[in-house]
Amino acid sequence: MRPGLIVSSGSATHPGLRRALNEDSYLASAPVFVVADGMGGHEAGERASATVIAEFARFVGRASLELDEVRLAVAQAREGVEDLSTSGNGRAGTTLSGVVVATVDGMGYWLAVNIGDSRTYRLADGELEQITVDHSVVQELIESGELSPEDAATDRRRNIITRAIGASSTGDADYWLFPAEMGDRIMICSDGLTSEIPDARIREVLQTVPDPQTAADLLITEAVDAGGRDNITVVIADAVSVASRPGTLLETDENDIDMDTRPREAAAGGAL
Ligand code: MG
Repeated sequence: MRPGLIVSSGSATHPGLRRALNEDSYLASAPVFVVADGMGGHEAGERASATVIAEFARFVGRASLELDEVRLAVAQAREGVEDLSTSGNGRAGTTLSGVVVATVDGMGYWLAVNIGDSRTYRLADGELEQITVDHSVVQELIESGELSPEDAATDRRRNIITRAIGASSTGDADYWLFPAEMGDRIMICSDGLTSEIPDARIREVLQTVPDPQTAADLLITEAVDAGGRDNITVVIADAVSVASRPGTLLETDENDIDMDTRPREAAAGGAL
């Protein structure tokens, strides 16, 4: 089956300047583009994020995924991470954020998934939109009006998350399904990027650097230069071919017809 959505991607990760380990993990291989930010110390975080990524790596090579498959992968990842905690790795936990390619009636869709405070953004028509909503204490304080978004960036509680995979959390992941458009640029990152670089600068880089790998590398470099206080991971997924409009399919049909007419013309010539 022809994929409804073809993606070109770039990705990069860096331990930053303060942490001995890089507890982030990621996967950027169709149809899965996700970031996991592990926590727990003593390698527990590293193993937790790697456990989630291994669960999603089984999907690589598929044209698209169903929501139920993603839900099941999250549930199985949760069991795997909880097993880490019971086998002496401390209280292992991890975030998960990103998109998988989905297909609805033959058309390309993004299926976003999020648990924790890693983030998935979409740049479309020059606007940068945060698709996911952080599961964090400061996000709850912003929503209740007790904290302004500006103050949240420096609030001492900014690293406390309210849902995770593992870490004794039972909170569900959030899901969003939305149609892909040609030119969509999805950016997924751990909080090591967003705690160092303001959204306005992220938007500028995503808008002005066409190559996804070059853009991912530049964002990492800027986050390190800004202090690199945490592990930093960036995945960029560009929609380079989307079956989203009837016109896309009609073009293909017309090409097929053109090819079919050639032998017929030859046959007609032969009959004269
Ligand atoms: Mg982090």
